[in-house]
Amino acid sequence: ANIKAYETLTNHGTALDAIELGINETELDPTIRTVGYGGYTDHRGEVTLDACIMDHLGNAGSVVYLKDIKKPISVARKIMENSQHVMLAGNGAQEFALKHGFKKENILHAQSKADWTSWIQNKPKLKNLINEDNHDTITMLTLDSNGNLAGGSSTSGLRYKLHGRVGDSPIIGSGIFVDNSIGAAGATGQGEEIMKTVGSFLIVEL
Ligand code: ASP
Repeated sequence: ANIKAYETLTNHGTALDAIELGINETELDPTIRTVGYGGYTDHRGEVTLDACIMDHLGNAGSVVYLKDIKKPISVARKIMENSQHVMLAGNGAQEFALKHGFKKENILHAQSKADWTSWIQNKPKLKNLINEDNHDTITMLTLDSNGNLAGGSSTSGLRYKLHGRVGDSPIIGSGIFVDNSIGAAGATGQGEEIMKTVGSFLIVEL
């Protein structure tokens, strides 16, 4: 992701382009188990994706509980640039994506399905899910040659999360925050904690 983002910046791409193209690399890589295609499932065995993006002018786009679309950060950017809204969720987000040229694809990788199958067979206790070992996300911040910042985040969220759970990653101010006059921050970690402090916003503004 960093290599792609760096290439984009050196080829005169904007900070926002670098975020999108960089994060796409990770979203499409099935060996990365916490982002996009190949991500871990929720407790019902479904992969649901969250992402958000923000530019130097304070424009923002976000997608939550997105199913069967491989590049959630690109959907978030489309929402920012081609709708009057900041955040779309679930079926509505998918409908928007399909209308804007994205394809419906299977994002449940065989390995994620196999992992979920063996997890559920052991009758796991959902209350033990939130711990330091169960997390990861991509969050990326870029600065281009015009001095403009951008930020983005993309995740499949907490492994075996409760169906419908959304973490901090797609929440502007929690997962990422950009204030071009100050700086930018992005978070990974336990979304339930990050959301309660609007962590990225707090870091930047402090
Ligand atoms: N923050 C992400 C979430 O809670 C997970 C992570 O970064 O590890 O969904």
